[in-house]
Amino acid sequence: MLDVVIIGSGPAGLSAAIYAKRAGLEAVTVEKNPMSGGQVLNTYEVDNYPGLPEINGFDLGMKFREHADKLGCEFKTASVLGIKKKQEAEAELRAASDAVEEESGFLVETDEGVLHTKTVIAAMGAGHAKLNIPGEEEFAGAGVSYCATCDGAFFRNKVTAVIGGGDVAAEDAIFLARACEKVYLIHRRDELRAAKILQEEVMSLPNVEILWDATAEEIKGKEQVETVVLKNVKSGEIRNLDVDGVFIAVGIIPDSEILKGIVSCDEKGYVIAGEDCASDMPGIFAAGDIRGKKLRQIITAAADGANAVTAVQEYLLRSKITK
Ligand code: NAP
Repeated sequence: MLDVVIIGSGPAGLSAAIYAKRAGLEAVTVEKNPMSGGQVLNTYEVDNYPGLPEINGFDLGMKFREHADKLGCEFKTASVLGIKKKQEAEAELRAASDAVEEESGFLVETDEGVLHTKTVIAAMGAGHAKLNIPGEEEFAGAGVSYCATCDGAFFRNKVTAVIGGGDVAAEDAIFLARACEKVYLIHRRDELRAAKILQEEVMSLPNVEILWDATAEEIKGKEQVETVVLKNVKSGEIRNLDVDGVFIAVGIIPDSEILKGIVSCDEKGYVIAGEDCASDMPGIFAAGDIRGKKLRQIITAAADGANAVTAVQEYLLRSKITK
């Protein structure tokens, strides 16, 4: 039986893999994508990770993975389908194999087989939140995108809109302004949520126009996006804005589906866990963006990975799970 299965290989999962290896734990990191790095891979520039100023997000993600590989961390490319407490899966297990009857811990079911482990570090991160407005789904991939660094190049010399007011929206607007003729940043309030340094940069760009107090009500077009319908939340005025692309950056939703019913999550789906990353299910830990916390950054995700492994070690000592 493994000591720990780490699910996800963004900064939290990779940091956990590195710490687990150095702690001498038998660990496997399961990642559904062939490439490690998580959301950081889609970040054009990271300028707040100490020691690596202005590093490209993709390069930083690669560096994390190279570090883990150099230490000999074990990875498995597979999608996790579910996690079961061993006792709950006992009946099924008995049918599958007699050898595991005396074990405790968890069964991590993947599309590439089952892993038996004493503990789990859930580091699945988060995905893009949707606006859920008419046209959003219809034009996904036809002018609607959730990743400026992935799709921005298709909009060279074109007009785009970014919806949102957080760090990602500001970064997207800055990134798109380099290639696009014009970028509208559409925010539902009269103040951005993004870090001050990003706000200042956005506001200094001549081809970025911020449309305050505006919500996107609908995205229209024929085969491709042509118009986004905006509503001024103060005056109620409706306006049609002609754009070639719409980049939606309205936050993230935790990828915690497989943990439902196993650990407690808050109303947004973030796992309720403190700084030690321990969930309310003994043996399951949550690290990175999936954990309910105040600051979601690469550095806090990496810190979670380290803290989670420390908590795993303490748990293993306390619980004395036998093989
Ligand atoms: P975020 O910080 O949650 O911001 C989401 C933005 O979208 C907010 O401005 C919000 O408006 C707006 N919004 C939410 N729902 C909306 C809706 N239905 N209609 C219109 N607007 C809506 O999310 P994020 O920018 O994706 O960032 C996610 C996390 O990663 C954050 O914790 C962020 O700090 C972190 N991050 C950090 C960096 C960095 O340090 N460089 C880079 C990227 C991401 P309100 O402001 O009115 O709520």
